[in-house]
Amino acid sequence: MALYIKAAEILEKVERKKGAVKTLVYDSKYQNIKQLFALVCETQKYSEVLQEIIDTTRLLKDTKLRIHLAKALVYDLLIGQGVKCGGAWKAVMLKHRSRLQAALARIKVRQKVSRNEDLLPPSMQNIGGVTIPRYVRVNTLKTTVEDVIDYLKREGYSYHGTASRLEDLYRLSGKEFLKDLHLRDLLVFSAKMDFHDHYLYKAGHIILQDKASCLPAHLLDPPVGAHVIDACAAPGNKSSHLAAIMKNKGKLFAFDLDAKRLSTMSTLLLRAGVTFQQLANEDFLKVDPLCPAYKDVTHILLDPSCSGSGMLCLSDGGSEEQRRDPERLQALAAFQLRCLNHALRFPRLQRLVYSTCSVHREENEEVVSACLQNNPAFGLVRLLPEWPERGLEPLAQCLRASVTKTLTHGFFVAMLKRRLQTPGSSMELSSRVTPPAQEERAETSVEDQPPPAKKKKRNRKKPKKQGT
Ligand code: SAM
Repeated sequence: MALYIKAAEILEKVERKKGAVKTLVYDSKYQNIKQLFALVCETQKYSEVLQEIIDTTRLLKDTKLRIHLAKALVYDLLIGQGVKCGGAWKAVMLKHRSRLQAALARIKVRQKVSRNEDLLPPSMQNIGGVTIPRYVRVNTLKTTVEDVIDYLKREGYSYHGTASRLEDLYRLSGKEFLKDLHLRDLLVFSAKMDFHDHYLYKAGHIILQDKASCLPAHLLDPPVGAHVIDACAAPGNKSSHLAAIMKNKGKLFAFDLDAKRLSTMSTLLLRAGVTFQQLANEDFLKVDPLCPAYKDVTHILLDPSCSGSGMLCLSDGGSEEQRRDPERLQALAAFQLRCLNHALRFPRLQRLVYSTCSVHREENEEVVSACLQNNPAFGLVRLLPEWPERGLEPLAQCLRASVTKTLTHGFFVAMLKRRLQTPGSSMELSSRVTPPAQEERAETSVEDQPPPAKKKKRNRKKPKKQGT
């Protein structure tokens, strides 16, 4: 029942413009965030259809349910995977099931469609029927990819090796699974798989994380023993990924302004076996880069608050373009740029990954371009040459992600690297993303193509070679 109560509360708050779905879901403290997020998004998406069904069957009058609760229940009964509660509400839904089903069937006949999805406006339909697979990151602090594969095979899952093309991922059905083609610790299942009640999830051996959200830590790739900052860290999936890459060795300074989210993060890190973190409920912008504690920080992951427009909750009404709120975007971009400029002030910083789950150029390429204008000591690294979706021109070194091109939520990642080594910074930098020769080329192309905001002529001298 708690699922539907929370979903109804969030639906009502969103309608009254009391917050964004993503934030409200996180703040709800509901234990299965993904389940709640999916229910709210899907109910919103089908809101008009559900409203018509509820009106024509006079469900509210007969049951005394409130509209948002009724919508969430009717969604699960008719379109989702069945009502997930017992008690009075389930009994009510079952009592009215035939009338509700008949009302849905009538709408489909009227609109001459056979699938529920075809009832949605085109902007809300998954293009070509593509849905995001279920991604499962193996937590190598607690287990290995091979052990997880063996465990699942013993449970009747069917392992099909490593994917060789993106198309392999959306062909998965039932209990089939694959290793991802880009990220070696990632397993991929059909979208319908839910591991929230699985032992491996509860024991912290697997982390349920979208593939795009695994990119920042994977690309930053700090060496074991490094000193790293996760600047806007909660609820902590990227911190836990960093910890796995660094094998819990070195230092991980994680900051977040929101105490509630930070407490969720503590729980998550505990479950994931992360032991070397220093969590601080602090404004990253007020952290002193010259403080001796951070003198050896060489890597920063910056994943600041953003519009969340890449999270596939397509139903806030209208297309993404229609939902674009220029004032809000401007405020977010200004904050993101301040964070980025601040992060580059850490004296021994070598690499920084900047990421957002936004699809807006204002929060992505424009923030990075403006930052590079202010910080000529840093250049962009060309990321994963084989990745199918690039940053918008001229920042093709960066990555974008989307449901249609990468089978993930919408996402953006850039990596900045110091061009000139600071004195005494002898730390060997690993480069899992691209061979050093390509990085050199990529940095040359940054020099050659000044970011769009300020088109002054630049010196086309070859950049100095630097060891990585
Ligand atoms: N990286 C996180 C993860 O993977 O779980 C998600 C980070 S979320 C996109 C952005 C976070 O930034 C929020 O938890 C928010 O509270 C935090 N935040 C916003 N402003 C901040 C600031 N000035 N300093 C530190 N954290 C901040």
